[in-house]
Amino acid sequence: MIHRDRMRDHFLTLVRIDSPSRREREVAMHLKEELVRLGAEVSFDQADRMVDGTVGNLIARIPGTRPGVAPFLLCAHMDTVGPGEGIKPQVKDDIIKSDGSTILGADDKSGIAIICEVLRVLREKAVPHGELEIVFTICEETGLQGARHLDVAYLHARTGLVLDSSNPGRLITRAPTANRLQFTVQGLEAHAGVCPEKGINAIRIASEAIAAMRLGRLDEETTANIGTIEGGNAINIIPNTVTVRGEVRSHDETKLKAQTEHMIRAFEEAAARHELRLDGVTQHGQVTCEVQRDYDRLFVPEGARIVELVREAARALGREMTLWRTGGASDANILCAKGLEVANVGTGQQEVHTVREHLHLGDMVRSAELVLETLKLHAGGV
Ligand SMILES: [Zn+2]
Repeated sequence: MIHRDRMRDHFLTLVRIDSPSRREREVAMHLKEELVRLGAEVSFDQADRMVDGTVGNLIARIPGTRPGVAPFLLCAHMDTVGPGEGIKPQVKDDIIKSDGSTILGADDKSGIAIICEVLRVLREKAVPHGELEIVFTICEETGLQGARHLDVAYLHARTGLVLDSSNPGRLITRAPTANRLQFTVQGLEAHAGVCPEKGINAIRIASEAIAAMRLGRLDEETTANIGTIEGGNAINIIPNTVTVRGEVRSHDETKLKAQTEHMIRAFEEAAARHELRLDGVTQHGQVTCEVQRDYDRLFVPEGARIVELVREAARALGREMTLWRTGGASDANILCAKGLEVANVGTGQQEVHTVREHLHLGDMVRSAELVLETLKLHAGGV
């Protein structure tokens, strides 16, 4: 039922329209037209005002054709990471990739193309369905901002699917909570050749702190990273400021807290070790730590209706469906935190956020079939 070539061609059209975060307007207008043709009522919210963007989140509503069926949400994001302008997609057999100078944009235009194809099939085959709500978000790649500013009170659906991961044989039901950390180390400036005794080296403090930290994959639920470091002015000056940024992610709130505290302690202890007596006054290295909750976890219980539905759909198609726990976040995290029951299904996108990004058409078709079957079952079968 899924029209492979039509879906592929729509995908190719979509990736040829540039849509870096905050500049999604052109692709949004294209999608608005397409969705109106498919019988949707389309509107935009004002999330663009919060992010200084060109367009808000696209919200489309297609009336149900079978009464009594609960509304269902389908969500994907319109923005892409860089380098993502002037994408020239190359199709070879079952694989689509870029020309190697940009990303492909399958993250997440494959999700959008799948949703549009499923809507086309529902319409042309007159498949009975409940009310459908389509949300195409902006600024997912800049910290899930579009979804963050989406007012879910406006939506009727309380359950649905986000299409924004790789493998259509996996349903992501768990994703971590994340903290964003910033450490500012304060030392004491001094001439490195004339009077190094009068200095406290902030880079040294930061190095000792980082060297004392547990980082990387800490257990199957928790990861930690130091991602950027900035500081120092010249090789002949003992540096007095350095700023270090990092993150902690965990599926478990207690572990997240413990690791965050561990990283803060490492900085505090390193700073305290660097002491200096100058003109009768004792000086220490100092550190200020800022911890910010980046996003909350995605957690869909195994017995949730959406999980049952997708599993049943996979079974009906004669496939395996694995429930999956990921270390990455998506709009599903935000929607879950806002009280919706949503899981994330794969679209065939691979090696995203690199110029090697590519899309498996076969997987994309499998994903579309799965979504279609899920909607049919949700509406009580045909
Ligand atoms: Zn994505």
